[in-house]
Amino acid sequence: MPEDAVTMDKIVALCKRRGFIFASSEIYGGIGSTYDYGHYGVLLKTNVKNEWWRSMLSERDDIVALDSAILQHPRVWEASGHLAGFTDPMVDCRTCKERFRADHLAERAPGLACPRKPSKPPGEGPDCDLTAARDFNLMFKTTVGPVEETGSVAYLRPETAQGIFINFKNVLQFSRKKPPFGIAQVGKSFRNEITPGNFVFRTREFEQMEMEFFVPPPEAPAWYETWKAERFDWYQRLGIRPEKLRLREHGGGELSHYSSATADVEYRFPIGWSELEGVANRGDFDLTQHALFSGEKLEYYDQPTGERYVPHVIEPAAGADRATLAFLADAYDEETVEGELRTVLKLHPRLAPVKVAVLPLVRKDGQPEMARELFAALRGTMQSELDEGGSIGKRYRRQDEIGTPYCVTVDHQSIEDRTVTVRERDSLTQERVAADALPGHLAARLSAPWRSPKLR
Ligand code: ATP
Repeated sequence: MPEDAVTMDKIVALCKRRGFIFASSEIYGGIGSTYDYGHYGVLLKTNVKNEWWRSMLSERDDIVALDSAILQHPRVWEASGHLAGFTDPMVDCRTCKERFRADHLAERAPGLACPRKPSKPPGEGPDCDLTAARDFNLMFKTTVGPVEETGSVAYLRPETAQGIFINFKNVLQFSRKKPPFGIAQVGKSFRNEITPGNFVFRTREFEQMEMEFFVPPPEAPAWYETWKAERFDWYQRLGIRPEKLRLREHGGGELSHYSSATADVEYRFPIGWSELEGVANRGDFDLTQHALFSGEKLEYYDQPTGERYVPHVIEPAAGADRATLAFLADAYDEETVEGELRTVLKLHPRLAPVKVAVLPLVRKDGQPEMARELFAALRGTMQSELDEGGSIGKRYRRQDEIGTPYCVTVDHQSIEDRTVTVRERDSLTQERVAADALPGHLAARLSAPWRSPKLR
């Protein structure tokens, strides 16, 4: 099988060239490892989040949604253990001034190299001079209210999960659910990462998609298996090639203090196998801690049996930016068509930022008018674009690079018989379709089963 054409540099360049993702604050010289999403990036990431919501809410009936605040009572982070323990011990090199995560050094993580002697891992080059591991707190601190004084300290949440635990009682009361049931949330989280990098893979401000699934304690091991399989499958259903995905179970030494079992869904990024999402069996740690710190009872009372218990929690925790990067990397392709290099994003149609582009072949003879009429008929039901400028070849290349599955071209024949050509992004086949049947035709094709053409 030929090696993938994709590299991180090519993704970064395409994202900038086509307005998906830019370095933030560029006019001020930039601020390291911080990114802004442009039009197509917003559409793509929104589709990723919507697919997550769909799999959590529309396709099941045992999960409810939540949107909790980013600023929470500081005691939340004492109870969760973040204030004391949310640190990655780090090791500095006195020679090259680079900083490395101690756990990455210990496990000799792939891709980790001494900046001065890249053939060696850090610490093993002739001039390496590493410090002992030191702790850093990764939470962003801020103050609430106009005056900085004691008691006004607050933290930007480093994960969305705690907002779910502290609302357990509210949700139980109003959702009419009983375990097993889940609470799902999507939103921004903030971590003062010591070593951000690799584009949007690791940033200090990012979006998470987390779901806490509350179960009767004896059912926890089975639900852990169910959620690992379900989350692994989700990425494949959205087109990621199976050979680029794996589930890696954490060994005993790697487990967090609260977790009895954790597995990572990993994707083979251009930087090597890396975590996309973690699935953890958190036991009753979180509810027990918040009950202890808040004084509120956080348990479930089953009226028919008279049983009272603290549910155990299975948590699939994913990153919206990291998932978006994986979908981009997996979709990126280069091929030679009629002697010319074509760059194309072979995205699942459900993820593609734009579903259809309407292109008049020339800017005269009634073609732009007909293209506008078709665009107006389509745009209410699917993300559509009208693209009138430049040569047709250039416009196809642009749509290929943003991953638009279908291009509808209005040509001279269209004016005579009200038919248009529909060009398919992956196969490059062109089909003539009656203009008036276009919305139905495209809707059917967009909702048909899809598998990555890179799987051939
Ligand atoms: P890592 O080991 O890569 O730092 P983690 O195990 O600390 O990740 P979790 O706390 O389990 O991550 O968060 C769940 C998910 O949130 C991760 O799998 C990832 O997709 C996303 N995520 C975590 N930290 C970041 C970050 N700094 N930038 C972008 N996404 C992140």
